[in-house]
Amino acid sequence: MADCLFCGIVAGEVPSEKVYEDDEVLAFRDINPQAPHHVLVIPKKHIASLAEAGDEDAGLLAKVIIKVRDIAADLGLDEEGYRMVVNCGPNGGQTVGHLHFHLLGGRRMTWPPG
Ligand code: 5GP
Ligand code: ZN
Repeated sequence: MADCLFCGIVAGEVPSEKVYEDDEVLAFRDINPQAPHHVLVIPKKHIASLAEAGDEDAGLLAKVIIKVRDIAADLGLDEEGYRMVVNCGPNGGQTVGHLHFHLLGGRRMTWPPG
């Protein structure tokens, strides 16, 4: 999708520090990390937000979530725990219009979120 930052990262037009890639999923480090480990895990397919996902995307999104699990384990976060966050729309705090799952770990999270 033209003018989408994360599609630009998928295409290699925008540099990123990749931590995982396959045909359908890409994971890269957040440019402004909010925790010692802050990775964004995305479907390569342009889906603007969770609200824009279709029923036909269910399998793809399940795959993305399972990759969050695998990446967290690879980073050694699974024993102490981590947080997965999806911000959706203005009230959710979404700033990039390509669906992404934040994987945050390496520190104790607080609740409720801000
Ligand atoms: P959102 O606020 O939409 O849930 O999350 C967007 C995330 O993308 C933010 O955490 C922000 O730091 C990150 N981000 C914005 N621009 C870039 C970029 O060019 N490269 C990388 N790696 N992360 C970015
Ligand atoms: Zn996109």
